Amino acid sequence: MESTLVTLSNGLVIAGLLILVGALFPLRNLIDQLAPGPIRKKWYFQSILIFGFIIGYLVYAIYFWRSATLIVPFVFFFGAAYVWLTINLSLQTSMDIRRSMQLEQENITDPLIGIYNRRYMDKRLEEEFKRAKRYSQPLSLLLIDIDFFKKVNDTYGHPFGDLVLRHWGGLILSVVRASDIVSRYGGDEILVITPSTPPTAAFALAERIRQHIEMHKFILSNDPNLKYVQFTVSIGVASLTPEIDQVEKLMKEADQALYRAKDKGRNCVIAAEEVMETVIPITNTPSHTP
Ligand code: GH3
Ligand code: MG
Repeated sequence: MESTLVTLSNGLVIAGLLILVGALFPLRNLIDQLAPGPIRKKWYFQSILIFGFIIGYLVYAIYFWRSATLIVPFVFFFGAAYVWLTINLSLQTSMDIRRSMQLEQENITDPLIGIYNRRYMDKRLEEEFKRAKRYSQPLSLLLIDIDFFKKVNDTYGHPFGDLVLRHWGGLILSVVRASDIVSRYGGDEILVITPSTPPTAAFALAERIRQHIEMHKFILSNDPNLKYVQFTVSIGVASLTPEIDQVEKLMKEADQALYRAKDKGRNCVIAAEEVMETVIPITNTPSHTP
């Protein structure tokens, strides 16, 4: 009887010790998933504590190897099981949160350009419109369309066109503020929602974007005869006025301004409001340099 109790006591302590060692692996995974910061540090501290417990279990096992007491070994065993369960649950929770955040991000992102998609744009436009109306704040839209983009596709192929579109989104993001919302409106059209931005500032921003794109050289690395391709954009700017009572009307104004920009010869910014308008001499086709 005594020997059975001793075996059980030793077994519980050793099992507890092994469970604690086993808990270190999911804990390692959990720490790897966390960004550097206070929470990660706390989990590091947790792993040091577990090391401490492992040493404690070892010391107990050595000193009380022949003991038939069961209470302490039971507490050791269930304590270790609790630690193991808590760490595994934390790891699974963290993975679940990560997965749902990724899904959420994918849901609102355009897969080609990597900026917001149309669905997200519609939602944010409605929200920003309501907010601007409620607090009588300015709100402007920039509708940007690549000039003669069909020619880029026809000349260099659709895959290169895709590459240009991907890079194009990054170019616009590099000019706007973090609070501006950049989204793909359609094929080669991007809409920038600029909250708290009055017409003159929106026009100036549109002009900066236009110039930035005009000067950019898209490298054609796989063509030895061609070093780079350049193209231009036309931009329609619309700003909220007291008369505009629906988001669709604001969007229509931006669309009409863009249409006028195309009509005026492209590579220019046209505002729906009487802000100021510039028309820059156009490059009719995407230029390339041998
Ligand atoms: P415009 O100056 O009048 O805007 O001329 P455009 O040739 O750019 O004509 P438009 O804007 O009407 O046509 C957009 C073209 O963009 C049509 C299509 O060939 C191309 N396009 C649309 N979506 C994609 C895409 O996802 N990838 C690629 N490579 N091309 C696209
Ligand atoms: Mg176009």
